Amino acid sequence: MTKYAEVIGHPISHSKSPLIHRFWLNQMGLVGDYRAQDVLPEDLNGYFRDRALDPVWRGCNITIPHKIAALEYVTDPGDVRGSIGAINTVFRGDGGVLVGTNTDAGGFYGPIADMPLAGETAIVIGAGGAARAVLFALAQADIGDVILLARNGLKAAGLLAHFGLKGQVLPLDARLPDAALLVNASPLGMKGKEALEIDLAPLPDHALVYDLVYAPIETLLLKQARARALEVVDGLEMLVGQAAIAFELFFGVAPPDDGENNLRELLLK
Ligand code: NAP
Repeated sequence: MTKYAEVIGHPISHSKSPLIHRFWLNQMGLVGDYRAQDVLPEDLNGYFRDRALDPVWRGCNITIPHKIAALEYVTDPGDVRGSIGAINTVFRGDGGVLVGTNTDAGGFYGPIADMPLAGETAIVIGAGGAARAVLFALAQADIGDVILLARNGLKAAGLLAHFGLKGQVLPLDARLPDAALLVNASPLGMKGKEALEIDLAPLPDHALVYDLVYAPIETLLLKQARARALEVVDGLEMLVGQAAIAFELFFGVAPPDDGENNLRELLLK
């Protein structure tokens, strides 16, 4: 019986998680599997009940629409419910209990961990699940002001308060303030979604632009940032980063750093 993990969601066929985790399993020569499982909302309870009894199931990643509902079926030792408010990973803890956690915040922070963020101003676009993980990470990094650009001002103001952040909420078409970091945590710019219309001119030359969108990988936002010679981080870096944290929780070993270029090539096919 081969140990395995999987990603659950509905729909699920678009998920890149199997490609990433299988790449590492192969690279490390580990005996294990990583699958994609379509789970309907009404089947979520039964899914966790069955998997909890399966001794070779190591855990799962969770995507839309189960990130909040799955909290009902797991223990939450890190108080993810009270902080980020949604889980993207379930793994087996001591005694086989199902533990819920969220690796998006760590996956987001990894590529900018060397950046001195304390006291700096950050601009974040969007006020959904990804923005919550970003704001959690920025609060941990002792960020200064956060300017949240969102279409729903009340929701965005609630998020700033929730994470104990100071700053301001502005509409999406506001002129950007001076900031060290700009993060797009909205689906704007994604294939099939509206474009993100933004003028980066007010950003200083040392600003870093980070787009969580990874389809396409080279978004208009990143193109504009590169045209200004600003430093950029693309969405694949976070995608691979959050997967690496989950992989270690499932299989007990961290994936190797080498081979990252091959993995990116595979994901871009
Ligand atoms: P979500 O929970 O649905 O939130 C989306 C946010 O964007 C919401 O605040 C929403 O506004 C706002 N928004 C959506 N459409 C908009 C529009 N047309 N105009 C203005 N605002 C709009 O989605 P999510 O999970 O946060 O994901 C956001 C993006 O991050 C997606 O592109 C996703 O693929 C990406 N992501 C990437 C990674 C990675 O590893 N790279 C991880 C997670 C997410 P309302 O609040 O008003 O609804």
